[in-house]
Amino acid sequence: MASLSSAISGNEKRLESLRQNIIKKTEDEQKELDSAQEEHQTIKQNIKDSQLKLSSLISARSQYDIEKDRDKYIENKNLMEREYAKLESLRKESEIQQKQVNEVKLKIRKAGLEEIKKDMLEVNKQDGFSSEQLNKATEELKQKQQSAIAEDRKSIRESKDAFATQERERAQERLREIFNPHIHSESLSKPVEYVTTSRAYSKGETIEFVDGSRSGSLRGISINKKTNLKTILHEYGHQIEDGNPEVHDLCTDFFRNHIVTGKQTLLFRP
Ligand SMILES: [Zn+2]
Repeated sequence: MASLSSAISGNEKRLESLRQNIIKKTEDEQKELDSAQEEHQTIKQNIKDSQLKLSSLISARSQYDIEKDRDKYIENKNLMEREYAKLESLRKESEIQQKQVNEVKLKIRKAGLEEIKKDMLEVNKQDGFSSEQLNKATEELKQKQQSAIAEDRKSIRESKDAFATQERERAQERLREIFNPHIHSESLSKPVEYVTTSRAYSKGETIEFVDGSRSGSLRGISINKKTNLKTILHEYGHQIEDGNPEVHDLCTDFFRNHIVTGKQTLLFRP
């Protein structure tokens, strides 16, 4: 047990240094993201101001007598036209800015995944696996994933849907890129079940035995044929967590110590 706890604290250190490394590697992009988001905030505020101005012009217009206040009426009409044009261009600007923000986020995510992948390769090397062995394990995992469809008729039928196939295979491919197949092969290759409910979920739990030892019990993930890549990745995340008590502890610890924002509930189960 002592060796396990030292292994866990070793991993915690490794994880922390990976996290710091990602933060450092993406410093410039983080700044870029901050300023892009700030810029977007400004545009959104300008949209609100413009909408306010329009609504006051509209209410002013309703007070005018179309005969007596003809000049005011025309002026109001001109102002309104100008404001509508301004609002329209602000909305376009906002759309462009939103794209900008998303692009920077994508860059950050890419850089992060790059680092995680490097770390996975490093761990494999330390564990004495050659790159050929890693490739072989990855290929075996791919085969297992492709045949891991639940055996009921609905799952077999819906797993063949074009969108379902695309999202599932893209998710599985990404997972193979960053998770060590020598460690997480089981968690990443349990049956995918296609259900009718809109909510996707993961089936599994960490079981604790009387002697204190623990092990993961996994029954795969349940999704529907419209479930997107992001959600599939999320559910596989639960499989990784439930299939590996050490990961489970790290996740629990992470939530306890690092997540203090309102986003907490989004990251929590289910
Ligand atoms: Zn969840």
